[in-house]
Amino acid sequence: MFKFLSREPLHDPLASPASGAATEVKTTTCYMCACRCGIRVHLRDTGNGPEVRYIDGNPNHPLNQGVICAKGASGIMKQVSPARLTQPLRRKQGAERGDGEFEPISWDEAFEMLTERLAKIRATDPKKFALFTGRDQMQALTGLFARQFGTPNYAAHGGFCSVNMAAGMIYTVGGSFWEFGGPDLDRAKLFVMIGTAEDHHSNPMKIALSKFKRAGGRFISINPVRTGYSAIADEWIPIKPGTDGALFMALLHELIASERVDHAFLKRFTNAPQLVVLDDCARQGLFAFDPNPEKGPPGDGRNPHNKLVWCKATRQVLNAYPEGIADGCDPALEGHYQLADGTRVAPAFQLLRERVAECTPQWASAITGIAAERIRALAREMGETALTQAFELPIEWTDAWGKLHKTTQARPVAFHAMRGLAAHSNGFQTVRALAVLMSVLGTIDAPGGFRHKAPYPRHIVPNYRAFNSPEMIQPNTPLNAAPLGFPANPDELAINPDGSPIRIDHAFSWEHPLSAHGLMHNVITNAAKGDPYRIDTLLIFMANMAWNSSMNTMAVREMLNRKDESGEHVIPFLVVCDAFQSETVAFADLVLPDTTYLERHDVMSMLDRPISEFDGPVDSVRVPVVPPSGQCKPFQEVLIELGSRLKFPAFTTAEGTRKFKDYPDFIVNFQPQPGIGFLMGWRGADGQSHLRGEPNPRQWEMYAKNDCVFQYHMPESMHYMRNWNRAYLDFAKEKGWRQKNDPVQLAIYSDTLQSFRLAAQGRTAGRRPPEHLRERIATYFDPLPFWYAPLEEAATDLQAYPLNAITQRPMAMYHSWDSQNAWLRQIHSHNYLQVNPLTAQAAGIADGGWCWVESQWGKVRCMVRHSEAVEPGTVWTWNAIGKADGAWRLAPGADEARKGFLLNHLISEELPFGAGTISNSDPITGQAGWYDVRVRIRPAAPEEPEVTFPQVATVPGGKS
Ligand code: SF4
Repeated sequence: MFKFLSREPLHDPLASPASGAATEVKTTTCYMCACRCGIRVHLRDTGNGPEVRYIDGNPNHPLNQGVICAKGASGIMKQVSPARLTQPLRRKQGAERGDGEFEPISWDEAFEMLTERLAKIRATDPKKFALFTGRDQMQALTGLFARQFGTPNYAAHGGFCSVNMAAGMIYTVGGSFWEFGGPDLDRAKLFVMIGTAEDHHSNPMKIALSKFKRAGGRFISINPVRTGYSAIADEWIPIKPGTDGALFMALLHELIASERVDHAFLKRFTNAPQLVVLDDCARQGLFAFDPNPEKGPPGDGRNPHNKLVWCKATRQVLNAYPEGIADGCDPALEGHYQLADGTRVAPAFQLLRERVAECTPQWASAITGIAAERIRALAREMGETALTQAFELPIEWTDAWGKLHKTTQARPVAFHAMRGLAAHSNGFQTVRALAVLMSVLGTIDAPGGFRHKAPYPRHIVPNYRAFNSPEMIQPNTPLNAAPLGFPANPDELAINPDGSPIRIDHAFSWEHPLSAHGLMHNVITNAAKGDPYRIDTLLIFMANMAWNSSMNTMAVREMLNRKDESGEHVIPFLVVCDAFQSETVAFADLVLPDTTYLERHDVMSMLDRPISEFDGPVDSVRVPVVPPSGQCKPFQEVLIELGSRLKFPAFTTAEGTRKFKDYPDFIVNFQPQPGIGFLMGWRGADGQSHLRGEPNPRQWEMYAKNDCVFQYHMPESMHYMRNWNRAYLDFAKEKGWRQKNDPVQLAIYSDTLQSFRLAAQGRTAGRRPPEHLRERIATYFDPLPFWYAPLEEAATDLQAYPLNAITQRPMAMYHSWDSQNAWLRQIHSHNYLQVNPLTAQAAGIADGGWCWVESQWGKVRCMVRHSEAVEPGTVWTWNAIGKADGAWRLAPGADEARKGFLLNHLISEELPFGAGTISNSDPITGQAGWYDVRVRIRPAAPEEPEVTFPQVATVPGGKS
């Protein structure tokens, strides 16, 4: 038994190996956060098998080049954590959910129990099984499992993380930040980071920033709080949370008014010159098109089509597709025109110009708190750096229309943004505004700007159609479309004939049409309400939904234990798979013990979320470096086993026998398309093919021998301008990364969004939103970016609750993952509310004093730190530091429970809407509005206990 309060070390990495024992170094991939650095695990033989001695960065790895962070180096403490779950557990008869009273069972019993239950659901009503996963890295497998099961009720954590960032950028430029693309700091001269403190791309960002600063680059951080990367910024521009979109609109106003935009880029590579119908008709706000059927069908928001431009040289309407802008054509970006049939039209850019005309720096200043002159100067600096400090690289490339470009144009202004923009109910349009700002400066996939990483850019809109009708859910039948996707028009929504949601989380419904990553934050609330129906089994993997991953935490805990009139739980069966005894485990009916990242195989696949670099695709793997502890089994193996027992077609041979022995076998042999598998390196029977080729039985061995990573270097001519780069587009199609090889024109104007608005306005035949959602859709599905106040503001008395409250993730702790980590706990065992001294003094709260933080939804008591690194209208704290007493096998009374706290108690997962409620999320994507809550603060009374509030009953530690 581990002793937390003992002075005895849990593990002594400096102790000598047993006499004569060998030491060994194995390489694998870190998973102490989502960054996926290469690591070397130093092992010693104890006589009882290998033991981890220490972990360092792998210098040969392309991502981190040997750099390791505090979390990565502390993996050893994860391995020996007392909070490990080591055997399957079943809730004891008579014990309540939340009590943590379990009895051990064997894996056979667990599989039999699950198989019997799931088989019944699959044979009757597959949607009654819901699979939701946290920050896992195998969504290609979990998504395949859900699809083969036949349930649409599947998603990972993206809906409560940063789907606004992914969707807002992908629907505009075809790619996004982090895994999908990022700032080219090797060639940038100005770097503007917005809404980012610590990043998913953690060590690579630190490496790039340090080189950038040494090379004399200028780094501006725009954030309500100055922490993390902002600490080394040349300038910190404080901004009020949820107002970034107003800043971007004002920057666009200034850049367009001063003509500091890349006109040539806009004309050739974006939809800025394409003509939009202005007349009051069923096609109002859509692009005009050539009615000649030989020019292709009218667009559906996904495919390039026969759009038109106005040629200023010849004063004629010309086709923009499929030929592209003809030689000698000078397409207008401004003005109003008439087509031959009298239809009034204007270039999309003209409409953008009109949109931002009112968005002056003075207007934005009143919203953001940034002085108007500072906004003007920022726009000037961005425009001048992009345009007058531009340079060309001697790299030839040919565009999608056959034009040879002798050089590649650099635009040395790079941006990076993440959850600070995304986690607001106005985040999608805010991110759209940023993407349009980056586009007008010509920085997309340009040297010094934003660069894609393979397999991006995707089509706008990506060719992933989700399922869209209840008939597609049939007993014992896989879904014939993916559970998740990117809708291009209302026909692609997952709705019933009456317009109501099909999914339990209401994703892809009229409530949140473009919810590409689902809405995990509403699953338990909706399931408890039976809205739109009751489910039977909820399988949660690696997500702490009974604590820091839910808004309104106490209510969610109550819902997990709620029973109906017949005494049955409203969520009848709850399965939790995790490696550690989190708060959520205590609520499970069945606990499946996962392995740590050092004990299993894993892939970071091109089918999912690879670790590609700007210059080419990269995928990587984990291989076991130590055996599993106890009876731990990787969740991947659980899925392969269940899929085989349930006889999913993809997991079963024509003769009805099991197709894959185990997860490594599945990874090598599963091919969604001929020659394409989960891993792209060392394919073909002889291992000599890359990217595409037949399965290679020795593929894992080759990865293990090569630092667990495969990197493919594309020729220089494919490094840039990949939205329109003929060689790259052909190559990407041939390798299976894209379905088509057509160019990806940037969507300055989104006819996709307009198609939803037209449906809401009742102008189009076909699907229309239910009455109560029409105004909402018509308002927010604006084809041009705009800023609106976060939705929670309209439901809040701002006089009573004047402050914004936000959280951020510290560099030394990834969400709640290392709550049990003996080393990392020493850095963050409790948290404070960080308050500007002016604000704290006005409220009468001393530095280190206790205070109450109240929102209209709830209250917490916590300690305060005065900090000048936060703008006066905002308070903030680290997320996921506070714990339920006893969870994670921390000693009762540990600082995490008594001094640590969560802001989640102040945030509601629902907002009032009409006569009912609706998810507290972005109305376009369903992204959780974590950072929209408004609060007030007051001192705690001297006689109050110096303990955080609320407290919950001590979790007994999953005892058996
Ligand atoms: S940033 Fe740190 S924790 Fe994250 S993968 Fe890299 S070494 Fe591991």
